This record gives sequence, structure tokens and C-alpha cells, in this order.
Amino acid sequence: MADAFFQMHDMGHEQVVYCRNPDVGLRAIIAIHNTVLGPALGGARLYPYRGEAEALVDALRLSRGMTYKAALAGLDLGGGKAVIIGDPSIKSEGLFRAFGRFVESLGGRYITAEDMNTTVEDMSHIQRETSHVTGSSQIMGGSGNPAPLTAWGVYHGIKACLNIVYGEDSVEGRTIAVQGVGNVGYHLSRYLNENGAKLIFTDINGGNVSRALEEFGGRAVDGDEIFGIECDVLAPCAIGAVMNPKTIPLLRCPIVAGAANNVLADEARDGEALMERDIVYAPDYAINAGGLMSVWSELNNWPREKSFDNAANIYNTVKRVFAEAKHEGITFTLAANQVAEKRIAEVRRIHEFRVNFARGAAPRE
Ligand code: NAD
Repeated sequence: MADAFFQMHDMGHEQVVYCRNPDVGLRAIIAIHNTVLGPALGGARLYPYRGEAEALVDALRLSRGMTYKAALAGLDLGGGKAVIIGDPSIKSEGLFRAFGRFVESLGGRYITAEDMNTTVEDMSHIQRETSHVTGSSQIMGGSGNPAPLTAWGVYHGIKACLNIVYGEDSVEGRTIAVQGVGNVGYHLSRYLNENGAKLIFTDINGGNVSRALEEFGGRAVDGDEIFGIECDVLAPCAIGAVMNPKTIPLLRCPIVAGAANNVLADEARDGEALMERDIVYAPDYAINAGGLMSVWSELNNWPREKSFDNAANIYNTVKRVFAEAKHEGITFTLAANQVAEKRIAEVRRIHEFRVNFARGAAPRE
């Protein structure tokens, strides 16, 4: 395993902070990838990592992903992430307050939020020690559950994909297969149903399937059957790595667009496989940024309606990514990365210009 500095250099990180408080069993790593666009924002994940090395890799990888997500979403935010080592049984008020004190010590360079195995209640504990936390309960002034907004962004991303494939945005009469009708999948299905789509569901949780069928009609299929269903859009809203060499050959749809993170098991290999099959793929981090926008609105004290307007703009982001992919002849994920990198480089230049200007240096042409 390469040392931390080598890994930070390799992935372009600015700062990694190790946090320890034995009184409450806290062992955490905060990774700040990039703050060119603004403070590094990213959730605090609680997970029983097998060791420090695994936790570090996850923190580095996830924080870098947040830089790209915020940049592509047009937000003035950088990328960060925290990982707390342990399983949910270690949770306590003290653990999260201790973590909150470390966040506070960074003076706003890192802003934390909910993530895997952390909840709105945990954020409320953190908020007692630092103001650099979002996603706390609405009673505590936070924006609460981001799922409806994430789903709203995915809904508009799907419309952009339909426009690219069929020349029309409307979901009316389109068949959309939703894998996972949990938090986001449920709200997405609601928007799709309200706008006349025909729905097909699958979920390993039978209760969630029944709820969806009862409220939105449609039909359900078993497990992996969803990949071979003839439909207009396959919307993965459950787990990652569902697009892989086993599933891609089964697809009978022109579009893959959903909320799940890390949809492609291997970004390059599976992105190319989808491109070869002429399947339009909305990169996960482009289309599922609604939750991040909710957090951004909370930071700016904007009304919730404004977050919905921002999430609807994912329509334009997805179209921009497609235009870049087409122009460059590259996969949709690579194109999304390029659009994000261009924005960061542009803002970096503006900052350099400002510094040079303040020093009296001639601005660069
Ligand atoms: P969730 O846990 O509420 O829902 C996931 C659903 O998928 C559950 O109903 C679960 O039973 C089902 N599921 C799990 N494995 C499955 C499988 N193999 N086949 C079919 N169904 C399966 O989670 P969520 O908050 O709705 O998030 C869904 C996805 O979207 C995740 O990948 C998450 O990382 C991503 N995401 C969520 C948000 C958000 O705002 N919640 C934001 C961005 C990305």
C-alpha cells in the first residue's frame, strides 16, 4: 500500500486529517480534495473498514468524486468526505459531538453531511459543536431528507435523455423500469407517474414494491429480470455496479439513467460497452446531484423551491455532457469529467488573476 502523501499526490488532494478521541471510540479521516470552487463538502460515512488503509482509500476516492459532482452541478463547493471507522453500534451523541469538534477545527474548509449509516439525528449532534454541518433535521434549521430533490433532478435528467433519443422530453406513455423503490426510487416513481409514464418495478424489499404498485400502478418483476425488460429507460436507484459485462448485453432499452451511485462497475470498460451498444447513459454524479443542491440551498438559506429549480437544471447539465461526448467522441462519463475539470480550471484562473491584479502584476492574456 502506497503511503498517504503518495496517494494524495496521485489523486490531487489538498489535505487529509486524522481524528481520534478514545473516550468515545472515535477514529475518523477527513479528506479534503479540492477547494478551488469553495469549501469542501461531503458526507460523513460510518463503516466497519478492515483497517486504516481501506478507510483512507475510501475517503480519498469519495472526496474526489464530490469535487467533480459539485463542479458539474455548478455549485461554489469543493470536494471532501469523512469516514468514521466502526459499525453503527458505536454511535453515540459523544461520538458525533467529538467528530463535530474536529470539523469545527477546520474553520469551514470542510462541511459535513449525512452519508452511509449516518442520519439526520447524528447531524443534529454534530451541529451542537460546529455550524459546518448540513442535512440536519428541519427543526434544527436543516434541509432534512434530500431524496425528493434527488429524485426531481433524476426526473429532469431522464427527460433530457428522452429528448436526445426521441427528440421529445415528455415521459408520457414512456415505459420506465425502476430498480429500487426506496427513498429516491419512490419519489422518482411518483413524479413519473404524475406525468403519465408506465412503470415497472423491482426491489429486494417486498414492502417497497407493494407500496409502489399500490400508489402508482404498473407491474413488478423479479430481481435481475429488470435488466432484460423492454423499456424506454432503465433507472437504477438501488445499488452500484449494476452496469457490468453480465448485464449490459441483456439491455433492451436506449437509455440508462437513475439515482444510484457508481452505476458502472468499471467506468472505462462499461462506459465504452454502453457506447458501443448506442445506449445513452446519464453519468450518475451528473444526474443525482439534487441532494447536493438541497444542501447547497441550506447553506445559502434559500427557500426549498429554489433547490427544486436548481435540480431541474440537471436537464441542461445532462444535455451539455452529451454534447461534449458527441463532439469529442468519448464516453458520457469522460465527457462529464471534462466539463467539471474545465469549470474548475476556469475558476482557478480567475482566482490567479485576482491575486496577480492585487499584487499589481499585469493580467495574463
Ligand atoms: P434506499 O436505501 O432508501 O433505497 C434503495 C432501495 O433499493 C431499497 O428499497 C432496497 O431494498 C433496494 N435494493 C437494494 N438492493 C437491491 C437490489 N439488488 N435489487 C433491487 N433493489 C435493491 O436508498 P436511496 O436513498 O433511495 O438511494 C438509492 C441510490 O441513490 C443509492 O445508490 C444512493 O447512493 C443514491 N443516491 C441517493 C441520494 C439521496 O438523496 N438519497 C443522493 C444521491 C445518490
